[in-house]
Amino acid sequence: MSQALAHEVIVVGAGPAGSATAYHLASNGIRTLLIDKAAFPRDKVCGDCLSPRAQHYLERLGLLGAVAAEAHRATRIRFQAPGGAEAETSITGAGAMPNSTLVLARRRFDLLLQQQALAAGARFRVGHVRRLAPGGGVELEGERLSARLVVMATGAALSLIKRTPLAPGRAVHTVAARCYLTRMSSPGPDLRFFFDHLPLPGYAWLFPTGSHSANLGYWYSGRAGVSAAGLLPKLLKEHPLLSALTAGGEGASPVAGYPIRSDFLRAPIRAHGLLAVGEAAGLVNPFTGEGIDYALESAELAAASIIAALRQAPGERPLSARALAGYSRSLWQRFGPLFVLMAFGQRYAFNPWVFDRLFGRGEDGQPFVDTLIQVCFGAAPPARVLSPLELIRLVTSRPASRASAYNRH
Ligand SMILES: Cc1cc2nc3c(=O)[nH]c(=O)nc-3n(C[C@H](O)[C@H](O)[C@H](O)COP(=O)(O)OP(=O)(O)OC[C@H]3O[C@@H](n4cnc5c(N)ncnc54)[C@H](O)[C@@H]3O)c2cc1C
Repeated sequence: MSQALAHEVIVVGAGPAGSATAYHLASNGIRTLLIDKAAFPRDKVCGDCLSPRAQHYLERLGLLGAVAAEAHRATRIRFQAPGGAEAETSITGAGAMPNSTLVLARRRFDLLLQQQALAAGARFRVGHVRRLAPGGGVELEGERLSARLVVMATGAALSLIKRTPLAPGRAVHTVAARCYLTRMSSPGPDLRFFFDHLPLPGYAWLFPTGSHSANLGYWYSGRAGVSAAGLLPKLLKEHPLLSALTAGGEGASPVAGYPIRSDFLRAPIRAHGLLAVGEAAGLVNPFTGEGIDYALESAELAAASIIAALRQAPGERPLSARALAGYSRSLWQRFGPLFVLMAFGQRYAFNPWVFDRLFGRGEDGQPFVDTLIQVCFGAAPPARVLSPLELIRLVTSRPASRASAYNRH
């Protein structure tokens, strides 16, 4: 029966998760249709930063060279604590992963990924999927497109997923906003994170995109109803260091906001004929807000499980949730402990008391800062930041308002 289908798998959403899933499926000979409501290239509100892990998974898609050739590379991160102390760290990837981040506008990055999926043999259609088809597949503008499996790669958008068994249980969104700055005097070479002069939990970022341009953003991850898009212009004007660095920001693009979903720990992942990847599975780090690496990584895990399930149950249509159980297991093994730690940190450690101690200890605190950032980027196991000795040192230390050795701007 399945031979009659034009497409074995339909992937809804051509962001990093959807395009990477389509690439891996099509490369393995699976007839795959990728659908997005937008024609490409299209914009996506983002900080545009690709972690070492994201680059590792881009390499496996055969895309790292093309992305790196157009992107801006950074090798260090600088932090500004609520009380004014500064710290910095080198970016470290796990194993052979690069010790740097890349920043490339999503309009371009997502196009490269989508084209890579098409080059591997996936088909593409522009269309807004509003419902699933009974018996497997989707309905698209009155047409029924059948498939043995639908992969939800719809990011933080809820309009479709909430009408499926993968609907998240309760409100899951926080909101971040960004704008692009041009004609700056210089953003400097490093990624910058600011925890001062703004509401916590949250942070502002300044990611250089060139020697006179940057992506500036703010993410508020709390529940007090702070408007990230409303606050960003104020930060640009009034934040002491940001306003100096951005030199008035007269070249700022309009501020754009977009929701973030980071509820992986309770998100439904699979159902009869259905599976979620990337942010549609809540896979955005609750502490850092980055999700492109998890999107690419979950795509690879999903494709491996789908290919195995399609082969093991050739007559099953749609694929049963049971046939896809390996995907849930591998996601949990890969991300479970990290997300538990990051969700705990977002809830209980994202405050001035902790950040002033974390970033205010100068060289004494450097090993802990280095380790924490490695854990956040997935370059070290979560247990590394739970070292009792390090935690006692952190709790008993006296916060400094400025660590002079790190006070270079
Ligand atoms: C302001 C901001 C800054 C961020 N900064 C970073 C960062 O610097 N680094 C990082 O790693 N992560 C960052 N993130 C998170 C990152 O953007 C997401 O984790 C990532 O885009 C998730 O990829 P995805 O493929 O799962 O979803 P998306 O990239 O959101 O792609 C979803 C796609 O699905 C399509 N779609 C949705 N619904 C439908 C439908 N019903 N029918 C058809 N198509 C549909 C959309 O058009 C879209 O193309 C940021 C997020 C925000 C909001």
